[in-house]
Amino acid sequence: MYDDILVPTDGSEGVEEALEHARSIAGKYDATVHVLYVVNTSTYSSLPADSNWESIVSALEEEGERSTSELAQRLEDDGIEVEREVRDGVPHKEILEYSDEEDIDLVVMGTHGKTGIDRLLLGSVTEKVVRKSEAPVLTVRMVEE
Ligand code: ATP
Ligand code: MN
Repeated sequence: MYDDILVPTDGSEGVEEALEHARSIAGKYDATVHVLYVVNTSTYSSLPADSNWESIVSALEEEGERSTSELAQRLEDDGIEVEREVRDGVPHKEILEYSDEEDIDLVVMGTHGKTGIDRLLLGSVTEKVVRKSEAPVLTVRMVEE
């Protein structure tokens, strides 16, 4: 039923909550967990033309490497097979595309991410993924301290 599980991460701490659910399901089903970070190109396309966006991109790429490595390490410590990926693009589009490409059976993600505005039911990335994903989406509530 669940062979490939996708956990998209934006580098926020709340993702750890989602990871626990993915870990538990993956353990039961002997599934591979895919950890995907999207370097958000829609953020820096709105910056002024003279801003040093190359350094912004490389900072985001670094965050992607760090976040996906950390999460992957924890799963591997539990003997779970992991695939790690950092892509450039619009987050929800890349998540949906990756999900199709890799035949993902379940997406596990937080209700909120970095911005975490509580007045919204769901963050915009999660909302779009829930709306459009072929695979079922498990949303894990993120509570603000
Ligand atoms: P918003 O971005 O709409 O202002 P938010 O940051 O609180 O609000 P989302 O961005 O929807 O909420 O984040 C919810 C979840 O979506 C995150 O926990 C993560 O799983 C996923 N996500 C968000 N951004 C990315 C990204 N750049 N790459 C991969 N996954 C992401
Ligand atoms: Mn966000």
